[in-house]
Amino acid sequence: MTTALDEYRAIVGDEVIDHLHQLAAPLHGMRVVHVNSTREGGGVAEILNWLVPFKQQLGLEARWEVISGDSPFYQCTKNFHNGLQGSPVPLSPALLRAYERTNEENSERLRPILEEADFVFIHDPQPAPLLRFCPNRKGKWVWRCHIDLSRPYRAVWKYLRDFVAGYDASIWSLADFAQPLPHPLYLIAPSIDPLSQKNRELFSGEVEAVYDRYGLDPDLPLITQVSRFDRFKDPLGVIQAYRLIREFTPVQLVLAGGGASDDPEGEEVLREVREAAGDDPDIHILHLAADAHREINALQRASTVCVQKSTREGFGLTVTEALWKGKPVIGGDTGGIRLQVINHHTGFLVNTPEGAALRIRYLLKNRDRLEAMGCKARALVLDNFLVTRHLREYLTLMFVTMHADMERIEM
Ligand code: UDP
Repeated sequence: MTTALDEYRAIVGDEVIDHLHQLAAPLHGMRVVHVNSTREGGGVAEILNWLVPFKQQLGLEARWEVISGDSPFYQCTKNFHNGLQGSPVPLSPALLRAYERTNEENSERLRPILEEADFVFIHDPQPAPLLRFCPNRKGKWVWRCHIDLSRPYRAVWKYLRDFVAGYDASIWSLADFAQPLPHPLYLIAPSIDPLSQKNRELFSGEVEAVYDRYGLDPDLPLITQVSRFDRFKDPLGVIQAYRLIREFTPVQLVLAGGGASDDPEGEEVLREVREAAGDDPDIHILHLAADAHREINALQRASTVCVQKSTREGFGLTVTEALWKGKPVIGGDTGGIRLQVINHHTGFLVNTPEGAALRIRYLLKNRDRLEAMGCKARALVLDNFLVTRHLREYLTLMFVTMHADMERIEM
C-alpha cells in the first residue's frame, strides 16, 4: 500500500510537496510505463514499488510492467550484469539469441502499451532491446542504468550499446558510470521511501523482537550486512572482517539476504557463504522472504554498525536505509557507496576485510563518535536521498525532454 504524498510534508516540508505538484501539472494525464525484469528483490524493484504509485498520485497515468524469460535469458543477463561491472564473462551466441528472443516475445504482449505511451523508462539491460521491437512508438524512451558501469568489460558494453544508443536519453546514478552515447545523459541518484515498511519508525518492542526471532544475543554488538547473495557484495569479505574483530572483542554478525527472481547465482553464493561461516553460532545467515521489509527495518535498527562491503555497487540502497536509521556504514570504496559514505563523517570507506575490521573496532570502542556519525548519516539522507528529491528529478527530466521537442518544432 502506498502512502499519500501529503504524509511526507511532516518530513520534508510543505514547499517540497507543493513543488512536486507544480512540476507534475504540465505532465497530467501522460502515459508513463516503467519496465524491468523482476517485481521483487533488488534495488530496482524497491524503487519502482513507490515511484509508480507516486507518479499516479501526481496525476500521471503511470504503470509498471515486468518482462520474464527462461533460464538462458537470466543466465545471459546475469553475465551482462557481471560483465558491465567489470568481470570478463562469456557471451555465447546461444545466450545472446535467448536474450533477443525473450525481448521479442515480451514485446508481443507489451507492444500496444509501449507504442502508445508518452514516456517509457526501461530499467537496466534486461529489457533494453524492447525499443527495437516497437517500431511505431509515439513517445520518448529513456534507458535507466542502475549498474556500476565505470569499468565495463568492453565486449558486453559494445554489444548492449547498440540497443541503448537508439533511446532518446539515459539516466545514470553517478557521473563515473556514464558512457558516451548519442543522446542526452542525465544523472539521478536513487533514493529511499522514509515511510515504507522498510524505513518507517517501528513500534516499541519490534526492534527488540528480532533478537528473539533470529536467536541474537541482545548483549553483543551486532554487525549487519543486508544484501542479495551476490559476489560483488563480498559477503565472504564481511565474514573475514568479523573474524578479525572477534580476535579482539566479542561481536555477532548477521548476513541477511534473499534472492531476486532474475538472479540465478544467488543459491551458489549462499552455499559459499554458509560454508565460510561454518558452525560459528555468532554468524547468523538469514535467508529472508522477499516481503520481509519490516524485519530488515528492525534488523538495521537493532544493529550497532551496518556494513556494505561491496566491490562494485550501482548505488546501494541498503546503505541509504542504514544511514537513515542513524547507523554509520562501513562501505566498500566503490560506485554509489562513495556518494553516501562520506569518509569519517557518515561512515568509513574500506577496501579490504582488514580495513573493515579496523573501522568497526574503532566505532565499537568509541560510542560517542558512533552516535555523532549516526546523526550526520540521517541528515545526509534527509537532504539528498529521499523519494521527493528523486521524483522531482524525474519530473524535471520528463518536462525537459518534452520541451526539447517543442523547441525543435518552433525552430
Ligand atoms: N533487500 C531485501 N531483501 C533482501 C536483500 C535486499 O528487501 O533479502 C532490499 C534491500 O533492503 C534494498 C534492496 O533490496 O532495498 C537492494 O538494493 P541495493 O541497491 O542495495 O542492491 P541491489 O540488490 O539492487 O544490487
